[in-house]
Amino acid sequence: MTESLRILGIVAHIDAGKTTLTERSLFDAGVQPWCGEVDDGTATMDWMRQERERGISIVAAATGVSWREHQLQIVDTPGHVDFTAEVERCLRVLDGVIVVIDSVRGVESQTQTVWHKADRWNCARLAFINKMDRAGADFVGAVASMAECFDCRPIPVVVPLFGHEGVFSGLGDPIRGSAIWFAGDVPQELQSTFAKSMRAAREVAIEACCDFDDSILADYVAGKEIAPDRMLAALRRGCIQGELVPVLCGAALHDQGVDWLLDAVCDLLPSPVDRCREGMEAAFPRPDPDAPLSALVFKVEHEEEEVRNYLRVFTGALRCGDEVQGTRGSVPFAVGDLWSMHASHHESVTAALPGEIVVLPGALGLQTGETLYPPGALRRLPMPQFSPPVIGAMFEPATPADGEPLEQALLELLGDDPSLRVEADVDSGLPVVFGMGELHLEIVAARIRERRICAFSTSRPRVALRATVAGRGEGRATIQVPGVAVAAATATADVSIEPSGGELAEVEVDVGPLGGHRLAASLGEELQQRGRSGLLLGYPAMRVTVQIRELLGGDREEPLLLHAVDTALAKAVEAAAVVDLEPIVDFEVRCTAEQGSVVLADLAARGASIRQVSSGQLGALLEGRGRLRAFLGYATRLRSLTRGQGEVQLLPAGYRAAAEGPSSATDPVN
Ligand code: GDP
Ligand code: MG
Repeated sequence: MTESLRILGIVAHIDAGKTTLTERSLFDAGVQPWCGEVDDGTATMDWMRQERERGISIVAAATGVSWREHQLQIVDTPGHVDFTAEVERCLRVLDGVIVVIDSVRGVESQTQTVWHKADRWNCARLAFINKMDRAGADFVGAVASMAECFDCRPIPVVVPLFGHEGVFSGLGDPIRGSAIWFAGDVPQELQSTFAKSMRAAREVAIEACCDFDDSILADYVAGKEIAPDRMLAALRRGCIQGELVPVLCGAALHDQGVDWLLDAVCDLLPSPVDRCREGMEAAFPRPDPDAPLSALVFKVEHEEEEVRNYLRVFTGALRCGDEVQGTRGSVPFAVGDLWSMHASHHESVTAALPGEIVVLPGALGLQTGETLYPPGALRRLPMPQFSPPVIGAMFEPATPADGEPLEQALLELLGDDPSLRVEADVDSGLPVVFGMGELHLEIVAARIRERRICAFSTSRPRVALRATVAGRGEGRATIQVPGVAVAAATATADVSIEPSGGELAEVEVDVGPLGGHRLAASLGEELQQRGRSGLLLGYPAMRVTVQIRELLGGDREEPLLLHAVDTALAKAVEAAAVVDLEPIVDFEVRCTAEQGSVVLADLAARGASIRQVSSGQLGALLEGRGRLRAFLGYATRLRSLTRGQGEVQLLPAGYRAAAEGPSSATDPVN
C-alpha cells in the first residue's frame, strides 16, 4: 500500500501553470467532473477568496487522486516569492515535486529558489515544460536552461511533436515508442521526422539508463532491444537518487500531456518507502505502520470558525481515539476526527498510515513544526527554519473596541504562518505586523477585513532593520553570591562575538570544566534555541562563542550560570559596537524594449545597481540589486511607468549596513 503512494507537490514561479495543471489532473483522474479555471476564478485549488479574486495561489492546497492503482496526494503551492515559507514547509513533507517551467520563459527566479529548497529536503524532481501551445515555445531551450541553472541532468521522457509551420500538434514517448496526435492522423510526410526525433530522445534516455543499471549497459552494447519497463526502473533509480531529472512537456490549459505526466508520477517518483535513505533517518524514518507514531504538523490553518492542523504521518499510524501529544508541551489529547482533504472539502477517515497527509480538525493548540507522538514515545522530526521577515506595517484599530478582535485575528494568522511576526510599537503600543513582502502584508490585511470583525487601517510599510555587531568583541563576567546559610556560589563565563553574515545567530558553547555536567547540555540548548529564533539579544547575524570558566553553586547553579553568560554577552556586545543592517533585494524587471530606458532611469534614481540589461522576444529584462526600502511601492510605480505592462520580481538577497537616517523612516517612494 505504501509503495503505491506518491506524495508530491507542484512548484514553480508564479503563472507557470501550477494551479491549471492541478485542476487538469483532478479532471483527468475523474475526481471532479468539471475543470476549474484560474482565469475565471473557479479553480478548486485556489479556494480562498483572496486567491480567486487575484488569480494567484497563496496557501498550498492538498488533494488526493487515484491513478493506475496508485494514490497520489497532490499539493499545489504558491509561486510568489512572498510565500516561499509556505512552499518550504510543504517541501518538508513531500517525497517528490513536479517543477513546472513556462516553455517561453524558461527557468525563472522563483523556480530557482524552490529548486534549491527542494535540494535541502532531497525531494526527487520531474520537470513539466508547460504552455507548449504558445508562440515562441522552446522545449530544447527550456531543457538547456534547466541544465544550466540547476547543474542537473535533464532527460526528456516526453517530447513535443510539431506539425506544419511549427505548430505544436502532438507528443511522443521515446521510452514506449508511442505518440499522440491531437487532431486527426499524423501527416504522412512528417512521419520520418518524428521517427528521427524519437530515436534521438530514446538514445539520450538509454545512455542515462546505462548509468543506473549495468545489465542495460551490457544489453545495449550487445545491440539488444531494451524493454520500456527496464528503462523506467533505471530512470526511476536515477530520479530518486537526484542524479537526473525526467522532463515531460505539454499544455496544461488544453489538457495536453497531463495524463502522461500522471503516468510518470507513478513510474518515476519515489514512494514514502523510497525516501528513507541512509543518513536521512532523522527526517524520514522508515514508514512502518507498527512503529510508534511520528507525524509532523506542517501547516495550521484558521478558516472562518474552523482550525485545520495538516500533518504527515512518517511512521506508525494515527487512528481516531488514539491518545497523542505535540512537542510544544500540549497536554495529551484523544484524536476525535481525521480528515482526508480535497482542497477546501474533506472526507472523514478512521486512520492515517505512514506517508499519508491528513487534517486533524479543531483548536488543539498545535503549531507548525511540531511532531505529534504517543505519550512516552517521542521521536522528533526536524522542520525548516524560516528567514526572519523583512518589512512591517502598523495595523491601527479604527476605535478602541476594534483593538481586541484585531489582535485575536492577528494571533490566529500568526499561528498559521511561520513567516509572520507581530510586535507592539514602542511608542503607541499598536501592533506592527512583519512579513516577507508587500503582497504578504496586503493579503494579511485583506483576510482580516473580509471577516468583517473589526475596522482598522494600515500604515505604509517600512523595512525591518536588524542589529548586529560591527566587529569582534569579548567580555568576561564573574558572578559571586556570598554564602551565609548556604555555601558561597560563583560562576565565570567568557563570551566572544563577531559578525557572521548568516541569517540567524550561530552559537558555539564550550562548556570547559562543565563537560558531562547536567547543565552543560541545557545551557547549550538554551543558547542554540535563542540563536535560532533570532532572539539572542536581538542581534541575529553573528557568531557567539561561550566558554564556561568555573561554576560552583549547589542548587543555585543554573540561574547563576545564565546570569554570568548574559552579563559577559552584554560586555562583549558593547566592546564590539552595534550597527543596523537593512534588507537588500535582487530585482528582475521586465518591460517592453521601448520602455527600457525610462525604467532604467527610474531604477538608477532609486540607487539600484544594475547588473545586466538584456532584450529578447519577451522585451527587456533588467537585473540588479538595491535596498528593499527603495523598492517599497515599486510594483505600483512600475505599472504606471509602463502602462501596466511591466513586471517586477524582488528576491531577498541578505542584509547590508543601513544607510543613514532614522530607523523607522520610510523613504519617499517616487
Ligand atoms: P500558477 O501561478 O503557476 O498557479 O499558474 P496558473 O495555473 O494560475 O496559470 C497562469 C496563467 O497561465 C493562467 O492564465 C492560465 O490560463 C495560463 N496557462 C496555464 N497553462 C497554460 C498552457 O498550457 N497554455 C497557455 N497558453 N496558457 C496556460
Ligand atoms: Mg497557482
